[in-house]
Amino acid sequence: MKTQISFLLATLASISSGFNIPPPPYTHKTSLSAKQNAFERDLRFKGAVNFRPVEETSFFQGEGLSKDPRTRAQQLVDAAVNVAKRRDPDQSLFIQTVTEVATSLGPLFAETDEYFFAFKHMLEPEQLYQFRVPWVDDSGRTRVQRGFRVQFSSALGPYKGGLRYHPSVGVDTIKFLGFEQIFKNALTTLNLGGGKGGSDFDPKGKSEAEIMRFCQSFMTALEPYIGPNRDVPAGDIGVGGREIGYLFGQYKRLNQGRFEGVLTGKSADWGGSYVRPEATGWGLVFFAEEAMKDQKNESLLGKRCALSGSGNVAQFAAQQLLKLGATPVTFSDSSGTIYEPDGFTQEKLDLLMEVKAVRGARLTDYAAKSPSSSYHASERPWSVVDEIDLAFPCATQNELEEQDAINLVKAGCVGVFEGANMPTTPGAVEILEAGGCVFGPAKAANAGGVAVSGLEMAQNAQMTQWTEADVEQRLNKIMKDIYHQCADCAEIYHDRTQIKEGANIAAFLKVAAALREQGAV
Ligand code: NAP
Repeated sequence: MKTQISFLLATLASISSGFNIPPPPYTHKTSLSAKQNAFERDLRFKGAVNFRPVEETSFFQGEGLSKDPRTRAQQLVDAAVNVAKRRDPDQSLFIQTVTEVATSLGPLFAETDEYFFAFKHMLEPEQLYQFRVPWVDDSGRTRVQRGFRVQFSSALGPYKGGLRYHPSVGVDTIKFLGFEQIFKNALTTLNLGGGKGGSDFDPKGKSEAEIMRFCQSFMTALEPYIGPNRDVPAGDIGVGGREIGYLFGQYKRLNQGRFEGVLTGKSADWGGSYVRPEATGWGLVFFAEEAMKDQKNESLLGKRCALSGSGNVAQFAAQQLLKLGATPVTFSDSSGTIYEPDGFTQEKLDLLMEVKAVRGARLTDYAAKSPSSSYHASERPWSVVDEIDLAFPCATQNELEEQDAINLVKAGCVGVFEGANMPTTPGAVEILEAGGCVFGPAKAANAGGVAVSGLEMAQNAQMTQWTEADVEQRLNKIMKDIYHQCADCAEIYHDRTQIKEGANIAAFLKVAAALREQGAV
């Protein structure tokens, strides 16, 4: 215990306010290997596109840039982040995700500045739409919400990414999610570009009719910008199967009944894919299973697991954990945490799903029905559990902070896998990694949802529907492949344990090569 505490203190002391760039080597360990070639399609010498603007040439001819590879890498990371800060100083979430990705790419930037310029190119969305969404509430009053869609990158395929309905949604949130989505979609190995959208509409407390009217108005504004080969939205926080149904109905109505794959997450009875509702949660657990096997030679059997959130991702992650013999012990919502010290059984999970998914009620309702549970108002799972093996943050961004990471390491946590997008703060990631936790970053670990969305698009294009077993098997293989892409790439550029670095580099190289090959667009 003493050494654990001193390690935590030492780690805390070493944490700077931002991200630390990874340690050397800053050049490839060996000459290009076959594996490395698979990642890197010689961005440096191919094609007519030169990403380097004239005015910046002198900077990259050495003036002001250090010869020391590590300092040079840091300078270039800072320069990339400054581009985002200069253009959009008040977009803190977007800047946070840009910093996170750029930091992983530092070694590449130091090696050839062409990578730096390709990254800089990616920072600007291809299109960003903002629109008014008027709707009429049950009392007959007209209300106005803001709607957004960012079409960030079509380098690898049609824009793809969910719609979020939450009062916190604005340009910053949508850009952070859309930027992450580019890299996540690249890892799925499917042809998917990156996009995201949503509204500051709060579905909580709204009637069924209000939600339908809002979705219809939202789609009326969004429809000109989307299409099955152009931009295919799906669900996210506050947008599930019900909302996708209303959105799809309105799209069809606006398009003379064109029944096409313009949205994913549709009901399996009318164009949806089996396993799409389960895909993000199940995929997260498949990823964790493979990572724990490869990194620690351990299975999930008997592992105590803390989950946050109690929505789509958390519920289906818990379902798959139970299938694999692990024990979920917590869920949360924006009001507090529910803790079952002896674990959620299938029966207790069914009760939780009924409370949340069917009745849309709060976790306090669950607590009232399960005497073995305890409810912790305003607390997150990470401060409630005192003995834990794995953690799955599945609620929202920045919900696992430095003190939470310390709690988890002290409680014996050996793996953290992100179900939500960017739930772990940069300082917390450093503590977890220094504490020996296997860390599965969101853009890899929660890519199962978009992967099955990609499979739904493929089924729609072929006017067919694959069986549940078939889709589950494909999802399982995709998640394992994603893990190995990340770990293999991490091994080439850093070391195998740095899955986050591997995820960012593998995804970036794929998008950068496509950008280069498609010319200056
Ligand atoms: P969901 O079904 O709407 O559930 C969201 C859960 O998170 C709810 O329990 C909600 O509690 C909680 N939550 C939301 N905002 C919170 C906050 N500020 N503080 C604490 N808890 C909060 O959404 P979901 O689809 O599960 O998505 C959860 C996360 O996974 C998001 O980050 C999303 O971007 C990510 N994700 C989802 C998918 C997908 O396929 N659905 C795919 C990839 C990533 P309340 O009920 O109190 O609001």
